[in-house]
Amino acid sequence: MTSENTPLPFDDEGLETKGPYKVLVLGGGPTGLSAALYAARAELNPLVLTGLQIGGQVAITHSVENYPGFPDGVGGPELVELFQKQAERFGAVLEFDSAVDVDFSQRPYRVKGYNAIYEAESVIIATGATPRKLQVPGEVEFTGRGVSYCGTCDGWFFKGKDVIVVGGGDSALEEGEFLTRYANKVTVVHRRDEFRAGVLLQKRAAENPKMSFALDTVINTIDGNGEVQKVELKNLKSGETQTQPIDGVFIFIGHTPNTEIFQGHLEMEDGYIVTNKLMETNIPGVFAAGEAADPHFRQVITSAGMGAAAAIQANRWLQEHSS
Ligand code: NAP
Repeated sequence: MTSENTPLPFDDEGLETKGPYKVLVLGGGPTGLSAALYAARAELNPLVLTGLQIGGQVAITHSVENYPGFPDGVGGPELVELFQKQAERFGAVLEFDSAVDVDFSQRPYRVKGYNAIYEAESVIIATGATPRKLQVPGEVEFTGRGVSYCGTCDGWFFKGKDVIVVGGGDSALEEGEFLTRYANKVTVVHRRDEFRAGVLLQKRAAENPKMSFALDTVINTIDGNGEVQKVELKNLKSGETQTQPIDGVFIFIGHTPNTEIFQGHLEMEDGYIVTNKLMETNIPGVFAAGEAADPHFRQVITSAGMGAAAAIQANRWLQEHSS
């Protein structure tokens, strides 16, 4: 990082300063709560800035079927509650605040939230990721009026209606299947002719009588009158376009890591924070885990595991570097 790229220290804006904490965890999803559990059990009294929603993406997932220990699956919100309870049982403290800026130029490191400035000897970044946008006309205008990124949250509003699900990954097929509980018909619109989703999900989708598929197809525009009423679809092979009446468009085309505030402060690649196998970033004492640093696995179990690993390493690092 050159000196001209070195970010300026942030303006405190008269906010109260809290800490210094031994470990400050940024993010209250599976990664952050697992990091908090491990840090708490190491008696590091971690503070967790939960962000706007405790649990992150899992909190809006209807059912998690691949987290070990729950052979019959577990509701996303229920799993989050269990994570939280377990971390708090050992002394982790959760604070409803989001990091908006950081200063990693010297220890204690400083993190600016909406409510306070937090000082910490070590920081574990577990800020996760948010759904990627399709970036077509109408998407922003109709978000919350027929365009959604969460079947669990909004499926109920589409009882007996026809919806489109965009994407070809696990999320698209899993959420598409979930939406058939409410919707009359779910059309999966995917830009290629083969899915990236796992075989089991593909099989279940193919066997679901309420699901149909528009392959090699993209949405050009989303339109309506106050609420979504139609989309223009384009077949990428034939070039043909057609207007399809529709009540809802659910978009599941991947995620973007929530790492904007670390740009210029940490080494990053394609928006993801670069770490080594020990979850260490290029700044000693600053660790990153879960979807903010992981473009590959993005599972609750892997994110939770990385969070635990980051806390174990933070503990080791603090033992060697405590002032
Ligand atoms: P993903 O695997 O990255 O799939 C994204 C899908 O969206 C791909 O099919 C991609 O098409 C399509 N896409 C991307 N950008 C697009 C655009 N601009 N326009 C149209 N389509 C676009 O994302 P995901 O499904 O959210 O899954 C993320 C991770 O979570 C994965 O590792 C997945 O295995 C995991 N996950 C697992 C489960 C489960 O195990 N039950 C459930 C949900 C998610 P292409 O295929 O052409 O690239």
